[in-house]
Amino acid sequence: MSKPRKSSCKYIVVTGGVLSGLGKGIAAASIGNLLSGRLKVIPVKCDGYLNTDPGTMNPIEHGEVFVQDDGGEVDMDFGHYERFMGIETKFYWNLTMGKVFKNILDKERRGDYLGKTVQFIPHVTDSIKNWFHEIARNEHADVLLIEVGGTVGDLENQFYLEAIRQLKRDVGEDNLIYIHLTYVPVPEGVHEQKSKPTQMSVRLLNEKGIEPDIIIGRGPEMLNPSIKEKIASYCNITPASVISGPDVSSVYEIPLVYEREGLPELLHSALGIYSPPDLRQWEIWVNNIKNNQANPRRRATIALCGKYTTLEDSYASVVEALTHCGAHLNARVDIKWVDTAKLDTQASVDAALQGVDGVIVPGGFGHRGIEGKIKVIQYVRERDIPYLGICYGMQLAVVEYARNVCGLKDANTTEVREEGVKVDYPVIDILPGQKNLSQKGGTMRLGGHDVEIKSGSQAFKIFGNKTLVRQRFRHRYEVNPEYIQTLEDKGLVFSGKHPTENIMQVMELPGRKFFMGSQFHPELTSNLRNPSPLFFHLVKAALGE
Ligand code: GLN
Repeated sequence: MSKPRKSSCKYIVVTGGVLSGLGKGIAAASIGNLLSGRLKVIPVKCDGYLNTDPGTMNPIEHGEVFVQDDGGEVDMDFGHYERFMGIETKFYWNLTMGKVFKNILDKERRGDYLGKTVQFIPHVTDSIKNWFHEIARNEHADVLLIEVGGTVGDLENQFYLEAIRQLKRDVGEDNLIYIHLTYVPVPEGVHEQKSKPTQMSVRLLNEKGIEPDIIIGRGPEMLNPSIKEKIASYCNITPASVISGPDVSSVYEIPLVYEREGLPELLHSALGIYSPPDLRQWEIWVNNIKNNQANPRRRATIALCGKYTTLEDSYASVVEALTHCGAHLNARVDIKWVDTAKLDTQASVDAALQGVDGVIVPGGFGHRGIEGKIKVIQYVRERDIPYLGICYGMQLAVVEYARNVCGLKDANTTEVREEGVKVDYPVIDILPGQKNLSQKGGTMRLGGHDVEIKSGSQAFKIFGNKTLVRQRFRHRYEVNPEYIQTLEDKGLVFSGKHPTENIMQVMELPGRKFFMGSQFHPELTSNLRNPSPLFFHLVKAALGE
């Protein structure tokens, strides 16, 4: 049994009901945003799957893999937490059933349970609770904001729910509250907000021994007083504890909605904490986003040229980074999704890029779609259309330059050799540290690394005359050092390098409106308060500034 512990840390647990995809991550991040004024709020996410982390999952299936500074590969909800709360999250703040079971099985082999039968209860639930306590302790958290993934009733999240049920007794009534996010539909033809799905989902939660203290009703509109009354009476809470979670045109509006709905006061009085949010500047940015959606002051269209364009979540942080730029530049940024696997002729490239003001080739893997990306890069380079290449997008810009400017026909990345493609000039090659790895999971060059910026370069200007910046990486391949001289002789500039290793981390073409590539992922550190400088200057150039 884990030791009962009266904690100085407060716990807020967010669960979801009825449907997945209601935006539980945004809800949790918004709660974190509202509390972060004076308190140290640590977000924790519990995922039910058996992968250790999402690093090996297909982005079409799972959405973007978010990379943390410490090298963790985590669920995209961590992107929301960082962007809404202005914090740097850590890998061990993400529990997955894969990690939980691995810990337990390792302990069992070590002999930590000698003489005992290892059971789901108490061993799995204790292990989850101890993990929470450890995070709270290590981080000196004022508030642990725990989001339980999935929806109530999912088999794979049962142990998390059982653990958080027990947690209330362990830490004391006054130190923990449950917030349940549900769905309040307004069926077409009925024109009335309906509470039944919420009632049923709360019943399910009650069966698990959990009574929500606050209910957030997601739906197309603000909840009206009578539905709040009804939900409150069915769920044993006050109508003031029922909060609207309406559809909004920008997710960044959610903290403002919750504030107007009185959520900060509810949290303060339930947990005895005080952290008044100051949302004045936040509101200005949100209004910029909304006003420009409705009535653009000025606008730019950025083509996002990748192969996972069927699922916008695959590039979630890239999309957000563009939103941040729009908010600060008071402009509307439209995204044109271009599936590069379909660009097989010059005419298809011309048609896809017709009228776009800027182009991004984001991160990616493998051979499919890369010839289309290379055609796109040639197109924008020859026409001086602003370009940002991220990770694979930088590597392929180097490939394009090698082929079409340096005359190295069939230059390519050796990554495609695995798929049988001929590579005469391996201008992009595997990182030395990546050769002969026996495992795929968690073994890329991951996380935050320093980038030394060449003084006087465009990168130097963009990063505010800094010669050292820290950025996040996720790759196995790099610019082949043997080709650096050939490329630079023909005018390509590597303006960001690793301080001690020979890894090229930023490239640029001087004399252009904007043509830059980064081996890192600048989108991962962009937020509404501080848009990523690379995105910011891409969008500025696309706006014609
Ligand atoms: N596939 C490339 C590599 O592994 C690029 C990775 C990426 O874009 N994240 O280096």
